[in-house]
Amino acid sequence: MTAALVELRSVTKRFGDFVAVDAVSLAIAPGEFLTLLGASGSGKTTTLRMIAGFDQPSAGEIWMEGQSIHLLPPNKRNVNTVFQNYALFPHMSVWDNVAYGLKMRRVAKAEIGERVGQVLEMVHLEQLARRAPRQLSGGQQQRVALARALVNRPKVLLLDEPLGALDLKLRKEMQLELKHLQTQVGITFVYVTHDQEEALTMSNRIALMRAGRIEQAGTPQEIYDRPATKYVADFIGETNLLSTRVRSVAGDRATLDVEGQTIDAQVPAAGPVPAIGSQVWLSVRPEAMAILRDGESTPGGGGGHNVLVGRVLEGLYAGSMTRLRLQLAGETTLVLHVAPTGTAVAPGQQVRIGWPVARGVCLAE
Ligand code: ATP
Repeated sequence: MTAALVELRSVTKRFGDFVAVDAVSLAIAPGEFLTLLGASGSGKTTTLRMIAGFDQPSAGEIWMEGQSIHLLPPNKRNVNTVFQNYALFPHMSVWDNVAYGLKMRRVAKAEIGERVGQVLEMVHLEQLARRAPRQLSGGQQQRVALARALVNRPKVLLLDEPLGALDLKLRKEMQLELKHLQTQVGITFVYVTHDQEEALTMSNRIALMRAGRIEQAGTPQEIYDRPATKYVADFIGETNLLSTRVRSVAGDRATLDVEGQTIDAQVPAAGPVPAIGSQVWLSVRPEAMAILRDGESTPGGGGGHNVLVGRVLEGLYAGSMTRLRLQLAGETTLVLHVAPTGTAVAPGQQVRIGWPVARGVCLAE
């Protein structure tokens, strides 16, 4: 693995008796887009503020490029922060807002001109350089804030919910733009959001935080397809969580009992092997399952497939797909996303559904 650019070693932050960040260890690679994702109060901003230098850890260390930095003031670290509220100087033009940091550092006039021009071009604001912030839209103001950070050429850019104030459409546009920009400039981004879709779209890696700890860190695919806990499966995307009992375990496969029907599932790569007879949760994504026609089985490849029998409760048309709710013999209900052009089914109808074994994970509480 490449040497880490930023490394958190057992970092803890206490506010009085309250532990906001609890022994977090994390290595961030150069050029990586790492997202700290989590519910409100899970410790994302506090973690970011410690990397920035606005807060100091109560315990643990932060290293950057082989040097411990957690005791250095913010301006002595090679990092810059972009906040949700932009924090622009209202009385200064876009150009002066971006140039301000360089002027303070007494960079030569010609160089300031060149660098400010370059970053304004990068964020598509060269035409608006003479405007004041109040004459700009929210998205444009956020671009100024970004330009003001990028002009310093930091090694690491810290972004705290930078798109939080924007409406959904603009937010989605800016997500793509930010990701593109990050790839273009090659700066390491540490990005805070509570929006799981945003995290999945933009990140190379996601660290999902829960109550001050990292519940799971991995690529968006790993987190989505191989959640390590029920909490992760539930937090990221939509999933079916079925209560099941373990019949047997062989290697990375478990055989489970769901209301008397038998299915197979993956055992998570990390964590303890589920005990025979114990209750575990089976997580299967709604889009992983399909309605089977008579005599048909799912294309399971070499990995096999599962079949369950249930009754259709309702189908909710949702444009690109239909959300189908099913009930098994007992209380268990589950949701499938099926193509509107797929097999037509009616409420009350008994159906067989199938999915590849590899698409289901069994998880402890
Ligand atoms: P959000 O998405 O709501 O911003 P977050 O995951 O960024 O949440 P933090 O802002 O890191 O969460 O806060 C973590 C916990 O620490 C919260 O319970 C918060 O109330 C607490 N906390 C943060 N800053 C302080 C402080 N200065 N004094 C006391 N408690 C604090």
